[in-house]
Order: sequence, then structure tokens, then C-alpha cells
Amino acid sequence: MTPSYAVIGNPIEHSRSPLIHRAFARQLGIELIYDRLWAPIDGFAEAVAAFREHGGRGMNVTVPFKLEAYDLAEQRSERADRALAANTLVFPDSTSDPVLADNTDGVGLINDLAFHGVTLTGSRVLILGAGGATRGVLAPLLDQGPQEILIANRNPDRAYGLVEEFNDTAGACRLHGCPLEGIEDTRFDVVINATPASLSAQLPPLPDTLIGDRTLAYDMAYGPGPTVFMSWAEARGAVRTLDGMGMLVEQAAESFLLWHGQRPDTAPVRNLLRDDIRRTTEAADTD
Ligand code: NDP
Repeated sequence: MTPSYAVIGNPIEHSRSPLIHRAFARQLGIELIYDRLWAPIDGFAEAVAAFREHGGRGMNVTVPFKLEAYDLAEQRSERADRALAANTLVFPDSTSDPVLADNTDGVGLINDLAFHGVTLTGSRVLILGAGGATRGVLAPLLDQGPQEILIANRNPDRAYGLVEEFNDTAGACRLHGCPLEGIEDTRFDVVINATPASLSAQLPPLPDTLIGDRTLAYDMAYGPGPTVFMSWAEARGAVRTLDGMGMLVEQAAESFLLWHGQRPDTAPVRNLLRDDIRRTTEAADTD
């Protein structure tokens, strides 16, 4: 039987994971089925059980089920433990063996930065947002040895909460939090937008002084062209702007490695994905 994989979420129809995983599989000559799986908000565990019963071997997990995926697993990677959330589930052959949960979002971001030749050692990093994505990337970001990470969030208590939780692993890094309106009047080397604001063409209230001519502006959101955050940063002289498409491909490559023991080459799949998003946006615009 051809091994079966899926990405589960609600909503799920927008997910590009099938395109990415099918492309990885073609590249490495691996036969698999990879589909989208919609689950009701209160039906995650049932949907996972049914998928496993039908021979499912692994799942990617997206909004809003990453915390439930972590809770459901009987065995968790250190990355999942540090994020308290999982985006990847590995189902063993036997239903009596434990389900493994992992979180590849953080390493996806780091690998995407590395793909673009960016390392964070000694850098001053600002993260906008304190939700699941920030939680997932904080430990791998800290592992890079930045000089400072400031988490700014609309609800500052969530930023302070993350700081408290991760402070004991921050080492020499100055890890601190603030409200979005309270960001210090200074330039950062890297500004990461980990809010979904760009998806609705919104920009968090940000001081112009954040961006200098050495600043990399990174938006975890992505679309057919530069996001509003990327355009804003570019207009203020950012040396480079990147969107989250590369992170998406890199986190998928790490899941693929877990399931199949082989790491695909992400470069051609990045191009494939960008073309696909451009094409589907153009098609929607002409409808
Ligand atoms: P969450 O819903 O868990 O958190 C969202 C965060 O953004 C919260 O801190 C929230 O603040 C803040 N926020 C939401 N809307 C606004 C706004 N209009 N202005 C300012 N702040 C806002 O989402 P995630 O952390 O899971 O995801 C964040 C983004 O990252 C999404 O766009 C998601 O698609 C993207 N992402 C991309 C990935 C990739 O591979 N490229 C992987 C994972 C995520 P508050 O706490 O005050 O509500």
C-alpha cells in the first residue's frame, strides 16, 4: 500500500503542504500520498485516529491544532517540548507503538535564514508577536547566540510570559518583552514579523527608527508579492526583506526527513511554490 500522509487543520484548503511534499517525493523517487485533511474544531483526536486506522504514516499539523497535537503524542522531541506545540506527527507501523510529535517550525526559520546566508550570532533581534509561531522559533533563535531578543506584542502579558518561560535558556542573550507601542527607539539587525497582520494588509504600529541600512526584515507571512511589512521596511532602507515562504518549505523538508530519512533539496521547491502562488493569485484575479 502506498504510504499516506496529510496536513490537518481548520481551515485547510489554502495549505500548500501537498504541493511541497509531493515535489520532495518526486525529487527523491519516493512513492507517497499526501492530502489535505479538514477536521472540526472539536474533532482533532478523532480525525487523527481515523487517519491512522486507514494506514496514515504521518501528519503535518497547522492552525488551530498544534497544541492538541503536542498533547496527543505519547513521545515528544526536545524541539516540541520547548515549543509545547507540534507541527509534525509520526505514526509507527504498529498502533500499539507511541506516536511521536516534533516541531520543525523553528528549524525551518533558521534553515531559511541560513539559505540566505544569515546567521544571528551577536545580533539584535526584534520579534513582533507572541503567539504560537514565536513560541516555536524562540529556542532555535536563542541557540544561535544573538546578543538580544526583544518580543513586542499587542497584549504585552503574552510577551512577558514567553520571556519568563525562556529566560533560563537565554544564556548571555538579553531576552525581554514590551507592548507593540513601547518598542525602544533604536535600530535592530533583524526584525521578524510573527503576527498575521500582513495577511489582512495591516501593519502593526512600528517606529520608523527600527529599520537601519543593516536591518533584515523578515515576515513569516507570505503572498504573491512583498507583504505590507516588507514594503514598509524596504521604504525605510532595510538591507534585505524576506517572506515566510522559505520557512514553510524548510519546515516541510525537516518533516520529510523525519518520515523518510532523506533530506530533499529545497531550492527547486522554493521556485515551484512561488510560481504556484503567483499563478493561482493571477487566476483568482481574472475570475
Ligand atoms: P497566533 O494566532 O498564535 O499569534 C498571533 C500573534 O500576532 C499574537 O501575538 C497576536 O497578538 C499578534 N497579532 C495578531 N493580529 C495582529 C495585528 N493585526 N497587529 C498586531 N499584532 C497582531 O499565530 P501564529 O503565531 O501561529 O502565526 C503568526 C504568523 O506566522 C501567521 O501569519 C502565520 O501564518 C505565520 N506562520 C508562518 C509559518 C511559515 O512557515 N512561514 C509557520 C508558522 C506561522 P495578541 O497576543 O495581542 O493577540
